[in-house]
Amino acid sequence: MNLLVTGGAGFIGSHFCNTIAPAAKKLVILDKLTYAANLNYLDCRNLLVAGDICDRALVRKILYTHEIDTIVHFAAESHVDRSIQSAEAFVQTNIVGTQVLIDEFKDYNSNESTFKRFIHVSTDEVYGVAKKGTSFTELTPYAPNSPYAASKAASDLMVRSYYKTHNFPAIITHCSNNFGPHQADEKLIPTVIRSIVNNECIPVYGSGKQIRDWISVHDHCTALASVLYRGRVGETYNIGGDNEVSNIDLVHRLCDYYDEFTDTSGSRKLVRHVPDRLGHDIRYSIDSTKIIKELGWKPRRLFDRELKNTLEYYSKKYAP
Ligand code: NAD
Repeated sequence: MNLLVTGGAGFIGSHFCNTIAPAAKKLVILDKLTYAANLNYLDCRNLLVAGDICDRALVRKILYTHEIDTIVHFAAESHVDRSIQSAEAFVQTNIVGTQVLIDEFKDYNSNESTFKRFIHVSTDEVYGVAKKGTSFTELTPYAPNSPYAASKAASDLMVRSYYKTHNFPAIITHCSNNFGPHQADEKLIPTVIRSIVNNECIPVYGSGKQIRDWISVHDHCTALASVLYRGRVGETYNIGGDNEVSNIDLVHRLCDYYDEFTDTSGSRKLVRHVPDRLGHDIRYSIDSTKIIKELGWKPRRLFDRELKNTLEYYSKKYAP
């Protein structure tokens, strides 16, 4: 593979690059280096291009210079709260940027017959709310509720249309909430641990009863690798960790683990319920049967052990 990874200096992208690098003949990372990126996360940084996926000339130049045959597309604005404050950057990067990328890859590829892949890394949030007792399958209709989810849904549909119209070699994945090292400070788990470590209030939106399915970022990366190697072009794969937990339960677990580690008590008292996020989805739930049956992937990391490792990582990072 001559592999291009967009957004490779961000949370999931950096883990993916570090995992996949030995298998790639060439690995080029294209990243705008926003607040969410950190070059220190990368073991391999020799082919980093600091730039924007919306920059058509740059994308074209990278494809031709490095003879790219595979793209794994992570680059995105990814924080729901920011998309509620202003959706502009989300439309620009997530929708327009994706369209520029697939446009250029389509044209660059048009006369080639070699193995080519475009993996579009998307989210379970495009499906909206999972009613009690149901889980999202690949056939669940889209019903995105946040501007972030809507921008990801729009980009999914562009990618899908290129497959249908141009036979573009795309595969789309929808993953649930990732956790692990390298996540931006503003996300839930880093925020909770930073608050505990610094003895500050832990903000919890509304009742905290919103349910999310959590997956270790390492399991997400192995799922993406199996999609890359064995996934069928034109298909969609849902990826979940099979760990449905309410936000408040997650916060309590982190508090209890922290108290256990430090031989203290009382972290739970730091919890403060704050006004709920606008349009907050009450439940996400992923059915990963297709990728498990078809590609033989399954999540291998034990949730509580990974959560403890994650707690240890951010406790050190945020230690006062
Ligand atoms: P992140 O915000 O940590 O990283 C995004 C990366 O993209 C950053 O390095 C940033 O600099 C880069 N970027 C942003 N705009 C860019 C642009 N215009 N051009 C080039 N690079 C740009 O995000 P993440 O959590 O690692 O998510 C990566 C992808 O996975 C996203 O597409 C997201 O929608 C998807 N996803 C995330 C989760 C999750 O739980 N974090 C779950 C499912 C899917």
